[in-house]
Amino acid sequence: MREQACRKCKTLTTEKACPRDGSTELSGEWSGLIVVISPEKSQVAKTLGITQPGRYALKVS
Ligand SMILES: [Zn+2]
Repeated sequence: MREQACRKCKTLTTEKACPRDGSTELSGEWSGLIVVISPEKSQVAKTLGITQPGRYALKVS
């Protein structure tokens, strides 16, 4: 099953709700997978406002 992206924090999940913030506002329309391992060292993570390691969508529509 294709993962869905949380509209709030862009976390990717196969669950019915976001594992990070519990949001059920998920979207299957996303693009650009980004894997963040060390948010404090990643410029992309800083740009996107990501503070926790994980897998995120770059763009959620
Ligand atoms: Zn979320």
